[in-house]
This record gives sequence, structure tokens and C-alpha cells, in this order.
Amino acid sequence: MSNTVFQLMQELEHEQVVICNDPHSKLKAIIAIHNTTLGPALGGTRMWNYVSDDDAMIDALRLSRGMTYKAAISGLNLGGGKAVIIGDPSLKSEALWRRYGKFVNSLNGKYITAEDVNTSATDMEFIHLETKHVTGIPEYMGGSGDPSPFTAYGVFVGMKACAHKHWGNDSLENKNVLVQGVGHVGQYLVGHLVEAGANVFITDINEAKIKETVNKHQVTYVAPDKMFDLKLDVYAPCALGATINDDTLPKLNCPIIAGAANNQLAVEKIHGQQLIDKGILYAPDFLINAGGLVNVAAEAGGAYNREKVTKDVEKIYNRILAIFSMSEDEKITTQEAAMRIAQKRIDDVAHVKSRL
Ligand code: NAD
Repeated sequence: MSNTVFQLMQELEHEQVVICNDPHSKLKAIIAIHNTTLGPALGGTRMWNYVSDDDAMIDALRLSRGMTYKAAISGLNLGGGKAVIIGDPSLKSEALWRRYGKFVNSLNGKYITAEDVNTSATDMEFIHLETKHVTGIPEYMGGSGDPSPFTAYGVFVGMKACAHKHWGNDSLENKNVLVQGVGHVGQYLVGHLVEAGANVFITDINEAKIKETVNKHQVTYVAPDKMFDLKLDVYAPCALGATINDDTLPKLNCPIIAGAANNQLAVEKIHGQQLIDKGILYAPDFLINAGGLVNVAAEAGGAYNREKVTKDVEKIYNRILAIFSMSEDEKITTQEAAMRIAQKRIDDVAHVKSRL
């Protein structure tokens, strides 16, 4: 392991990183455990054809850190972890998932996995053959299934909170909303937005997903390189991270950013501040996209109740308004405000746990 990994772990304050290798099943995975103060580290497994192993490591480290703050701000007794599998998702196999399941099992519950980009409830079913430390397993197996509908619902509720803050009411009717990425989460978000009467624009790089969404909903497709030409009310990043960066910021032409993607700000402090300078209201990603985590956390805790989960996801609305107030009062970015609240809860619980 290179110094760079240790440097990154120290900088981002990670507890543990596990590198998994199994040439037989072609499994190359990284499990990153950021912080387990609040409980076991729960976070999904992403499968992606990374350009380099370094990119995969950085992704795993950044994503797992986000999970710590997501669980903390959502009031969950869970730590932050995330795993990435390096490879083309078309190479998925039973052997790969089961071997990966054994690696997860070797951590004895310190890390609990779930779905993420390019992984499904069916994949979780294979993992479940080798470990009980997996959530988001299909409903016919007693699980809660794909968490994406809850993530999308949380984003929708959070977007309404943004609307309330900016326009003085929750309505998204006739608002121009761009959903970037109509995958698992994006497609459900589009459904909510269309039902709410928004003018929905979609963009994606996957032809099949574009076709499916355009056929199913009253939406307008826009090519990825044309999306910032639109006059938007809301930009909803629902693809990959770092879409708010030096290149896109000057082109962003909307009062609100509210979407599901993790790590939307390429550089948290710099780009978070530049959004404020441009008068753009930014809903911190790890807060607005916590619906899926709330759902799998309920599954992991047993006694799963869908209605209770829905109510818990709706708490995102008030949490976002509280973050906006704190950001204004303390003159800090919304991301910083959310991180301070999350970190305070972690510190408070650490203090409580340190006493008899
Ligand atoms: P997904 O893989 O199902 O969907 C992502 C979509 O984005 C795909 O349709 C893909 O083709 C598209 N895409 C990729 N690159 C693009 C680009 N450059 N321009 C436009 N479209 C592009 O993933 P998902 O589960 O829907 O998750 C979406 C995002 O939300 C991810 O960042 C994920 O980490 C985050 N997230 C997901 C959940 C969940 O419950 N699934 C929970 C929290 C956060």
C-alpha cells in the first residue's frame, strides 16, 4: 500500500481500509470504513470501471466519509463505510458476489453493505448467501428491496424545502427541473416531479434509460453538453459526484441545487462558497440523499415498517431548513453547516460512550 493511501486516510480520518483480491472470480474490491463511533459502518457497494486503482481508492474513501456524516445527521446509530468493486458491471457473476460476501463477512459486522451505483437487490441476494451483513435484499427474502425509491422521495421532499426557502412555498408546479441521471434514483425522482406538475428535463448517457424515461413520463430530453444552456429553477444531480466544479460553476444558471448524487461538490469548501457567492441554494448531498440509508438502516435494525420509514424520510424537510438557517446565521456554507451538526452528534455520542 502506498504512502498516498495512508496520507489520504489520515487526512480524511479513516479507521480501516480492506483491499480484496480474488483472481478466480475477477474480484477487485476496496472496503473503506471511515468511522464507527455511532455503530457499524453501513454503506453500499459500487461497481465501476475505474480508470485507475487510485481513482477507485479515492472514490471509496470519499464516499465512506460521506456515509459517516449522512448517518450522523439522520439520527441513525450507524457509522460510515462504503465499498467499490473495480470492473465492468457486465462482468458480474454469482462467484464474484459470493466471494465478495465472504470478504464482507470476515469483518464480523463492522461493515454492512447495500446497493449503490450498478448494484442491485439481486446482487445483494448472492452476497446474502455468504454473510448476514447485507441490507437491501429482495422483499421476498424478508428484506426491504431497492432503497432507491426512498432516496428519491427524500430528494423530492428536500427539494420542496428548498422551494419553500427560495420562493416561500413548497410548490414545484411549472418549475423547470433538470434531473441529471435517470438511473435507479433519478427515474423515481422524475415520477414525483411530474406528478407535482414540474417541467422536467432529463439528461443521461445511457440510451436505454433515456428512452425508458421519455416513454414513461412527460419529460424533455437534453444532451449532457447542452444541459446548462437551459434556464433552470432546480438542478438535480443524480448521476456521479463532483459535477459542481470549476468547469460547471460558471455555467450554473439556477437558484437551487438539490439532487441525489454523493459528493456533488468537487472541492467542498471552495465550490460550496462559490455557490453562496452566486446566490445558489445548495442542499447538502449527504443530507438530502439519506432516504435510502434510512430505509436500509430500518431493515438492518429488524422490525421493518415501511410507513415509519416514510415518515422518517420526511424529516429531511425540516433538517434542510435548519441547515439553511444555520448557514445564514453563522455565515458558513450549507455543506459546512450540515457537517458541523453531524460532527457534533458524533462527538456527543463518543463522549456518552466514554462514560460508564
Ligand atoms: P444508477 O447507476 O442507477 O444511475 C446513475 C445514472 O446516471 C445512470 O443512468 C447513468 O447512465 C447516468 N450517468 C452516468 N454518468 C452520467 C453523465 N456524465 N451524465 C448524465 N448521466 C450520467 O445510480 P443510482 O443508484 O440512481 O444513484 C445515482 C446517484 O445517487 C449516485 O451518485 C449514488 O451514489 C447516489 N445515491 C444513490 C442512492 C440509492 O439509493 N441508489 C442513495 C444515496 C445516493
